[in-house]
Amino acid sequence: MKIYDISMKIHENMMVYKNKPDKRPLIWVAHDFTDSSAYESRIDIDLHTGTHIDAPLHMVKDGATVDTIDLEKLVSHCQVIDLTHVKDCIRKEDLENLILKEDYFILFKTQNSMSDSFDPEFIYLEKCAADYLRKKKIKGVGIDSLGIERSQEGNMKPIK
Ligand SMILES: [Zn+2]
Repeated sequence: MKIYDISMKIHENMMVYKNKPDKRPLIWVAHDFTDSSAYESRIDIDLHTGTHIDAPLHMVKDGATVDTIDLEKLVSHCQVIDLTHVKDCIRKEDLENLILKEDYFILFKTQNSMSDSFDPEFIYLEKCAADYLRKKKIKGVGIDSLGIERSQEGNMKPIK
């Protein structure tokens, strides 16, 4: 199996959720060879930044933490689905004609990939599409934005 590292480069000017300044990564040198016998750097980063996985705790009170996620789920066969033609959100209808492989991790490439800045109107996964994926018994799902959901009744508040 060929392994692809899909991690985004972390830097202080990278895209952050809602462009909030307090979510920007801070990277600094704590010690270098002018004041120490070792070079030590530090980073302060919101974990909802760059390539990441959301633990259930991110959206569910008392949900499971990221350390409970089996690493076997994160190193996986994967299908990248090109949905760059989709507008606004990924609907169940966008998925029904695809051959989704059971026990594969699914990554959606959308128009979100066309920009390096945060768009509050990012392409998201509509709830019925998420329910459809769950029934397909995939291993997991990822999207090329800092969120997979927005603006749906009963879920998160709309982004303003
Ligand atoms: Zn997240």
